[in-house]
Amino acid sequence: MPSRQALAAFCERFRGQVVLPGDPGYERARAVWNATADARPALVARCAGVDDVDAAMRFARGHELLVAVRGGGHSYPGFSTCDGGMVIDLSPMGRVEVDPARRVATAAGGALLGALDRQAQAVGLACPTGHVSHTGVGGLTLGGGVGRLSRRHGLTLDNLRAVELVTADGRRVRADADSEPELFWGLRGAGANFGIATSFELGLHPVGPAVLAGIAVYPIERAREVAAAFTDAMAAAPDDVTAGLGWFVAPPGPPFPAAVAGRPVMVVNATHAGPLATAERDLGPLRALGPVLDSFAARSYLELQAESDRHYRWGRRNYWKGLLLEGLAPEAVDRIGELVAAAPGRDCGVGLLSLGGAFGRVPEDATAFSGRGARLWLITEAVWDDPAEDPARIAWGRQAMAALRPFATTVNYVNDLGQLDQDAVRAAYGPAKYDRLAALKRAWDPDNVFRRNQNIRP
Ligand SMILES: Cc1cc2nc3c(=O)[nH]c(=O)nc-3n(C[C@H](O)[C@H](O)[C@H](O)COP(=O)(O)OP(=O)(O)OC[C@H]3O[C@@H](n4cnc5c(N)ncnc54)[C@H](O)[C@@H]3O)c2cc1C
Repeated sequence: MPSRQALAAFCERFRGQVVLPGDPGYERARAVWNATADARPALVARCAGVDDVDAAMRFARGHELLVAVRGGGHSYPGFSTCDGGMVIDLSPMGRVEVDPARRVATAAGGALLGALDRQAQAVGLACPTGHVSHTGVGGLTLGGGVGRLSRRHGLTLDNLRAVELVTADGRRVRADADSEPELFWGLRGAGANFGIATSFELGLHPVGPAVLAGIAVYPIERAREVAAAFTDAMAAAPDDVTAGLGWFVAPPGPPFPAAVAGRPVMVVNATHAGPLATAERDLGPLRALGPVLDSFAARSYLELQAESDRHYRWGRRNYWKGLLLEGLAPEAVDRIGELVAAAPGRDCGVGLLSLGGAFGRVPEDATAFSGRGARLWLITEAVWDDPAEDPARIAWGRQAMAALRPFATTVNYVNDLGQLDQDAVRAAYGPAKYDRLAALKRAWDPDNVFRRNQNIRP
């Protein structure tokens, strides 16, 4: 640990806030989104700007402190905190600016998706991002970024134009298609490995302000029929349609009708990224099976992007895992139904999102992200509040992954990887990409300073 004197000297020149164990704000400063990630860092450096990031980096290296970099704090396994080390917290760096003429947003390293959505929608634009607005632009973009516009506009990282970084040796580097192109390639899919991103330039597209979106709810007994119809509909759907399937136990009241309230259900959800005039027609096949509840309506895109924020609020306990699939086998549909029926409590569910479209047209080698051939992104989620339920909920999550992994592709979405498991990381990229990334890691972070992530070993 650094001496008191060294710490005092560091605090003096740091513009943001340094929070230490015992300080009044420590409990708040050390918390991350997933309450099961309950680590106690030796200090949290809440950076006010790039100079602070630089200073924090140098201090951590000078005192051989383990480093955890925090953007939005949403890493499922809690990579953005650590025991005994230093959290370099970018959350005070949350500013987003939009240039409507160039259709480009510049987001600071700790910006949240909600800020990006708000600034872009103020001028009728959007960047494809994720489903929950308090997620960080940083971790989401550096790993992928799948969401409601993926089939129309690709991943968040497909829209990345440039990144500004503070590297492990304290250099400030800009990476884009012309400057450090190999680093720019690696940042798009394995980005947390190479430095601290202090700024992202992201391309924007006209979206909304209103889009047609909603859910269609079916009793679980119709799951195979609905899954088959969903697969057919998505095979023919234009890129404007990004849709998903969800399996969960319906809450016991409105808007869920008595026929399904409190019971396992299967839900089709969809967003249309294009004009309302064509949306009714394009979403028709996904709504044609006679659901017990159909909520489709023209909605504010901005509100839609924040509608799940409360459910996925900070401070709950979570166990989430993901897989990529090439298709939806009827047996997989049966397995998912059985898993949801056997869940140990409320808020255990499985979700699928359709891929393809613009996401699938990016060549596999164009970015470090792997899995462009996948047709579906699957997530198993267990969400709960009482620590006494940890064993049962985690066991369910593990059982769900074991049951569904046989249906998955060999590669995986790295943001879904839970633990520091080297074999899983290598498999997620495939051996050729992993080796290319390892060479990049040796060039930019040979000492593996940035290892609180889905780690590429130098
Ligand atoms: C509620 C919820 C909803 C989600 N929805 C989606 C979704 O719809 N689509 C999707 O694709 N993913 C989704 N995810 C997954 C999400 O993409 C990852 O968890 C992502 O890593 C979160 O980024 P963050 O900045 O919030 O997290 P953090 O925990 O802060 O960071 C995650 C990782 O990225 C690193 N990192 C973060 N910022 C920077 C930076 N500026 N520079 C360098 N490294 C950085 C951290 O060190 C850490 O390794 C969701 C996650 C949650 C919890």
